[in-house]
Amino acid sequence: MTTAHAVDTFDSLNPATDEVIGTFPVHTADQVEEAVARAKDAAAWWAGLGFSGRADRLAAWKGILARRLTELCKLVSEETGKPTGDAQLESVLAIEHLAWATKNAHRVLGRKRRSPGLLLANQAASVEYQPLGVVGVIGPWNYPVHTPLGSVSYALAAGNAVVFKPSEYTPAVGTWLVDAFAEVVPEYPVLQLVTGFGPTGAALSHAEVDKIAFTGSAATGRKIMTAAAKRLTPVVIEAGGKDPVLVDEDADLDAAAEATVWGAFSNAGQTCAGVERVYAHERVYDEFLAKVVALTEQVEPGQDYGPMTMPSQLAIVRRHIADALARGGRALVGGEGAVGDRYVRPTVLVDVPEDSEAVREETFGPTVTIAKVADMDEAVEKANDSAYGLGSTVFSRRRGMELARRLRTGQTAINAPFSFVGIASLPFGGVGESGFGRIHGEEGLREFARPKAIARQRFTAPLALTSFARSAKTEALVGKLISRLHGRR
Ligand code: NAD
Repeated sequence: MTTAHAVDTFDSLNPATDEVIGTFPVHTADQVEEAVARAKDAAAWWAGLGFSGRADRLAAWKGILARRLTELCKLVSEETGKPTGDAQLESVLAIEHLAWATKNAHRVLGRKRRSPGLLLANQAASVEYQPLGVVGVIGPWNYPVHTPLGSVSYALAAGNAVVFKPSEYTPAVGTWLVDAFAEVVPEYPVLQLVTGFGPTGAALSHAEVDKIAFTGSAATGRKIMTAAAKRLTPVVIEAGGKDPVLVDEDADLDAAAEATVWGAFSNAGQTCAGVERVYAHERVYDEFLAKVVALTEQVEPGQDYGPMTMPSQLAIVRRHIADALARGGRALVGGEGAVGDRYVRPTVLVDVPEDSEAVREETFGPTVTIAKVADMDEAVEKANDSAYGLGSTVFSRRRGMELARRLRTGQTAINAPFSFVGIASLPFGGVGESGFGRIHGEEGLREFARPKAIARQRFTAPLALTSFARSAKTEALVGKLISRLHGRR
């Protein structure tokens, strides 16, 4: 968007060095509204391109992302502090999702016939999913490519214009993505960027958008819903998690330990669906724990993961560890001294009471609690005893599917970490404090579209039901017909 009127600016810093990555405008409410107004024209033009016209442009955008992957990953790494390999992982997943949304939008959203039923057999019925118009996307910083694109790609593929407000910690990555899109769609501002802090996001949720797709904390999600309620703007909320891993007595313990260590510590634990709690069967608990501890001791902050992107998170991680230890928990690796000025050493906590902060609240740092359970019923019960319900993982040879289905989370991976995130055809979203609505997959496309039902009369009905001229004979006939059809038992 134009920055001509922006007065205030802010710097985005490299969290490892405090080097300035770039300076960005703090867009005001008026500027956000102007962007939304421009987006309306852009939305009409973009919708008019149709599925195949949009698919051409989205494929070209995807091509840029893939060809300039190294440049993008370097920027993500500088702005978030994560290793370039992790930046690449999130970027390739985002590209996969963009490819899937582009390829499948017509099939999922295009017009389909529906059966009109016996009473209205004279009608041709169909449904199609039309674009909403302008979608406001508000994103977090922890996966600045994958997370916002999970909404942006699907919203664009469904035919909407998007006004995107990236996190104040990752505006440079947001700018890069939007500039790349403008190269392939120069005609209209179909994807615009607004930058700033909470108030800029708040302005977007107050603006005349047709949907808000928010990813961030549950606390901010509540504020957005309150703002959106004024215009009855629909929202999709992708919020935090307190994701559990269940380790059954017949689990592959090496795989379970590896997944736990990666899931808990990669990206410095700053992953919405990251592993925060583990419930391991008592028959394998000791062996599993020994494997987790051995692997954790090899994990190096600064090499395997970066600093805490948001300095204020350090105090939360410190508080959760301190509370766990004060209440009888033990740190087998790390502990209170693990929290430094920028980096946090990986921390494995055991014997932590289930009602402590480290078990109940989202820590969003490289810590994990591991608890012993008598059986998998107890594991399911404890895993489900959470306000959150984003992801979960089950390690079990025989009971994986059964346990997965009993977990109250939006998605569950069996015998591998995070696999559901990379499968573009699967929906992703939360339960409870983790939010609602879905991104990714068919559900993610429909989230950004409005079902339009059309009934077209093909010939005059033999039984005229919706007319004052309806006869007593017709009424009697319909009564008989319905009792034949539905009244048998
Ligand atoms: P956050 O809620 O602090 O901020 C998210 C975005 O909301 C930022 O762009 C911010 O500027 C904006 N914002 C702040 N106040 C606002 C307001 N009043 N109105 C509108 N927008 C406002 O979250 P964060 O710290 O950036 O991200 C971390 C959180 O995101 C964690 O809880 C994490 O679990 C969650 N997350 C969830 C998913 C998911 O898919 N479910 C993915 C990634 C992160």
